[in-house]
Amino acid sequence: MPVPYLLYCTPDGEIREEPRLQALSFGERPLEMRDLIPLPDGVTLSMMPDRLAIGRKRNGERQVVAQTRGWAVAALLPIGYTRTLLPAYEKVPDTEPLPFFGYSAVAGLQGRFYVAALKTDNPHKWHPRVFSRRALEQRVHEKQVAFPQNRVIAQHAHCALDYSCPTASNLFFERWEMAIAVSPGCNARCIGCISKQEEEDLISPQDRLTFIPTVEEIVEVAVPHLEQAEEAIVSFGQGCEGEPLMQWRRIAQAITAIRAKTPKGVININSNASNPRWLQRLYDAGLDTLRASTISGHPETYTAYYRPIGYTFDDVKESLKRARDAGLYTSINLLCFPGMIDREREVEALIAFVREVGLNLIQLRNLNIDPEVLLPRMPALAAMGKALGMKTLIETLQREVPTVAIGNFSRPIQRVQQAPI
Ligand code: SF4
Repeated sequence: MPVPYLLYCTPDGEIREEPRLQALSFGERPLEMRDLIPLPDGVTLSMMPDRLAIGRKRNGERQVVAQTRGWAVAALLPIGYTRTLLPAYEKVPDTEPLPFFGYSAVAGLQGRFYVAALKTDNPHKWHPRVFSRRALEQRVHEKQVAFPQNRVIAQHAHCALDYSCPTASNLFFERWEMAIAVSPGCNARCIGCISKQEEEDLISPQDRLTFIPTVEEIVEVAVPHLEQAEEAIVSFGQGCEGEPLMQWRRIAQAITAIRAKTPKGVININSNASNPRWLQRLYDAGLDTLRASTISGHPETYTAYYRPIGYTFDDVKESLKRARDAGLYTSINLLCFPGMIDREREVEALIAFVREVGLNLIQLRNLNIDPEVLLPRMPALAAMGKALGMKTLIETLQREVPTVAIGNFSRPIQRVQQAPI
């Protein structure tokens, strides 16, 4: 059986092969061909700063690649692919945490490159090639000239041009799922928050929203999108903001105003689902779909990661149950960290959770975080039982909760069209 070998990145960014060393994954488990798929279109190979590449010699001995030769390398996957293993590396002591990316293990074989991942959805709407930079710049300019006072447009122009955010960009391309950020504040303190970090040496990759849009600003961008866009979804709750539920009154007013103008498209919220009573007001106002964020079905793991302020995991479950009972399409944004969420206790708890709240969809999201930032802040892995592997986790979900779809992003569901109020 051919042995996948080590890849590393030279100081000037060139990817090199080291066929004399077997590639390893986090925890120094040798990579095998059954773990790997060819690098998918749209992947980025990223140097891991101050992380030395390590491999295994034919005699089983561990070998560190000298710093002068280069650094460890990882793949950053396009949406539509779920990472199954993290890369192995040796951290240079007293160096900075890694930037918030979803590092995936890579290897080489017969001159081709591979990654530890699974294809779990159709990536065509999220592929970088459908977000032409030149077209985006033109459309942003046109929209900003047409709506010079609208701060939602200004915010998402920033997100589209500076972070290449697909849902922000769709506002300007007038198609598919579009972002509407509304909340500067949050009632959780997620270890991996991408818009706000408390600890000095942890730098969030995005700036947190600084204003609360008016109902008029929201309606001005939402209604034309719902009316005209292909498979239109308007989504509250984006990476650049806090928790949208902190602005539930504003969102409820906006949904009512939107539905007074159009029955078309889908109104969705991506939320930590922390307050069932506030969410109930949005269900009553006409919200169509809820995507609740979680890293686990187990309260201990959930609480350790989200560090909730004034709510508990039971509130999250209650929110999802009420959504199901109100006829909404419900999903979870399952933060995926291989080696933790695929452990026996976590798999059991996740299945029980999914059965209890009654979901339509599980969205798998590669968690963007430095393993050595996350793991010391989470319950001991040993207490979670054996790691079964992400593939086994997905197969177990498909077997145990077969009516629940598994993918990577929200669906343009067919909502029951009601006449404008
Ligand atoms: S719920 Fe969202 S905004 Fe709040 S801390 Fe977590 S990731 Fe950040």
